[in-house]
Amino acid sequence: MKLQVIGDPVLHSKSPVIHGAMLAALGLDIPYTAHVVRRGELPQYLTWAKGSGVTGFNATMPHKEDLLPLLDEIDPAAKALGAVNTVCLRSGKWVGFNTDGGGALAALKDGLGIDPAGHTALLLGAGGAAKAVALALSQAGAERVFVCNRTLSRAQELCGQDPLARLTSAPFDPGTLSSLAGTSQLLVNCTNLGMEGCPGRFEDFGFLDALPPEAGVFDLIYHPAETRLLAQARRRGLRTLNGLPMLVNQAVLALEHFLNRPLERKAMAGTAAAALANS
Ligand code: NAP
Repeated sequence: MKLQVIGDPVLHSKSPVIHGAMLAALGLDIPYTAHVVRRGELPQYLTWAKGSGVTGFNATMPHKEDLLPLLDEIDPAAKALGAVNTVCLRSGKWVGFNTDGGGALAALKDGLGIDPAGHTALLLGAGGAAKAVALALSQAGAERVFVCNRTLSRAQELCGQDPLARLTSAPFDPGTLSSLAGTSQLLVNCTNLGMEGCPGRFEDFGFLDALPPEAGVFDLIYHPAETRLLAQARRRGLRTLNGLPMLVNQAVLALEHFLNRPLERKAMAGTAAAALANS
């Protein structure tokens, strides 16, 4: 049995650190390595992997979408997203999953004590991460999720893909954000704003004042550990959570797929977070 993460670039990936620590904690001597696979090379990789004892892999850029037509089976959540990040060999068949949305829900539960069922959420962004989180919130029973994006057409397209019709698109401007924040118990930042190395920044944090005092603020970014958005939210007395718990929880869920058995999720997430902190 061998596990890998594939992508291009991929050698910077933290997945070998995270999975290596979890496998060691489970006492399993299973290698997990990073493997460069260039765009267009997936068919050759899948053939090579099957013959080389690779029983599962994680996929990152640029393969998350390109893998779909090449797999034998795709889990419904991954199909709805149009992206897979975890692939397992089961009885000779490649089966694809996506653990990003599940990772976000686990992080919200553990980190903020939030179950989205019946809640209204304000979600910023409409890229790949936003889609995973928005659809997961809808699936988990959120009453309404406002998806605000700089490019409104992307938000509209994302919302149109929710089979439960719980997503509503809106523009990304201070007035709209403030008015929607007033009815939201959860704010999720899925944009790049505040990420290390990203040139953009929030122009105005006034919309945080409109959130109810019990609201939670979840920023998917984990570099830096506390973005300006989270610092501003914390100063206003709001509960905050960065992207690290989502990162480690999506890895725990991926490992459950690889091993095809449930794990002690919180303990595994703790192991992974500790390994990351020491890496
Ligand atoms: P993406 O597909 O490139 O989407 C980026 C989003 O940010 C788009 O909605 C984009 O709006 C918006 N944006 C970028 N610059 C902006 C600006 N100056 N003003 C307003 N909006 C701006 O990226 P992604 O893969 O979804 O990732 C988004 C963030 O989530 C990244 O910081 C990433 O590190 C983080 N993430 C974290 C995890 C985790 O496990 N914690 C997992 C995945 C992603 P437009 O559509 O208008 O361009």
